[in-house]
Amino acid sequence: MTLLRSGSATDTGLVRSVNQDLAVESPSLFAVADGMGGHAGGEVASRLAIEALGVAFGRQPTGAGLSEAVTEANTVVWQRSQENPELRGMGTTLTAMAVVNEDGHDVLALVNVGDSRSYRFHDGEMIQITTDHSLAEEMVRTGELTSAEAAVHPHRHILTRALGVSPEVTVDLWKIQPVRGDRYLLCSDGLTNELDTAQLAEVLSSVADPRRAAELLVRAARSHGGSDNITTVVVDVVVGEDGDASVPAVAAVAADFRTASPEAEEAAGDQGEWAQASTPELPASSRRERRRAKRRERRAARGRRLITFRTLLFVILFGAVLAGAFYAVRWYDTNSYFVGVSNNELVIYQGRVGGFLWYHPQQVERTGVTTADVSAQYVSALQAGVEETSVASARTYVANLVCTRELQVNPAAICSSSATVTTTTTTTTTRPTTTSVPAPSTTKVT
Ligand code: MG
Repeated sequence: MTLLRSGSATDTGLVRSVNQDLAVESPSLFAVADGMGGHAGGEVASRLAIEALGVAFGRQPTGAGLSEAVTEANTVVWQRSQENPELRGMGTTLTAMAVVNEDGHDVLALVNVGDSRSYRFHDGEMIQITTDHSLAEEMVRTGELTSAEAAVHPHRHILTRALGVSPEVTVDLWKIQPVRGDRYLLCSDGLTNELDTAQLAEVLSSVADPRRAAELLVRAARSHGGSDNITTVVVDVVVGEDGDASVPAVAAVAADFRTASPEAEEAAGDQGEWAQASTPELPASSRRERRRAKRRERRAARGRRLITFRTLLFVILFGAVLAGAFYAVRWYDTNSYFVGVSNNELVIYQGRVGGFLWYHPQQVERTGVTTADVSAQYVSALQAGVEETSVASARTYVANLVCTRELQVNPAAICSSSATVTTTTTTTTTRPTTTSVPAPSTTKVT
């Protein structure tokens, strides 16, 4: 019995506008396709190939069946390109791995067409299983180029074999015994163009979680240029042929086939959920731990959203309170007046005697009346500031003081408050210093 654990990742990269790569990550079938042939053709080719591969392999989940499934995928892509002139010339690479049962034993069957690759990471050593079907690689085989020269050769992207470009295709097939601890990497050339074998091995040897490893590989390729679409599938052999017999054989669920395309991930709404659903053969403890981690992530995300909402609400309410307090203070200050003395002249001010908070009294009118024009008994109160409710009442108060003084001098005099006070409107700011305000004395005008 064989138990696998897997993870995948894909990215458009930093140069291309669309992602024509497609990955498959199912319990027993894993694949990477790299489409080509125009803006739409590449996406169509990789999707058709992946879909045809899954259907055909589901009918015949054997090593030969996997190879035959690739042949059927080639036919599907080829026929579609012939039917639709806009898709003519499209094609795709395809590298795939599946667990199959042959003669009572699980075997890893691996197929390849094109320059996507499959690696085996065994005992700390990276082994490239597949051979690139590219012009540069052909030149290496004939001795015209070294491997190092081929890695940077301008013809390294010219394929000598691909799916969908001709009615016939030759499929490379390997069969490998599943060994516990082995790790397999399937990837598009967007990864291997940016990272060398040592860099791939560094990530695979240091990151235990396959999904995390797949994501880090993609991220590393992006940071090294990301000139092409990047797709990775990492598959771990958790239990090999000598494993726990209670675990169901993965080949028995070969029909449970899903794709790991960006569209499929988007439809699932959560790549993590998708990855979990695609690896149901995980041990119960691992599943519980993964569910706990998911719950923690959801709680953390919910917490972040609440904090944001609460912060926004607090800022709005705090702003409203500040604005309300500001206008209340302003209303309290500007709705009061008083009569004071400036340079021996009676002056009408707006505001509170002595000021209030940051508001200082504003001089509204100079009355033209001096302290010599009013009885001496009122001068000290005026110097302290005599409060009135309005400018009009302040003027009346000053006029009454003048009349009172005239009556003291000449009891027979007849005075008029409106005729006595001459005012001058100003806007000068002053600050009376006295805070004690005696009650004003008002003389009846006759
Ligand atoms: Mg590519």
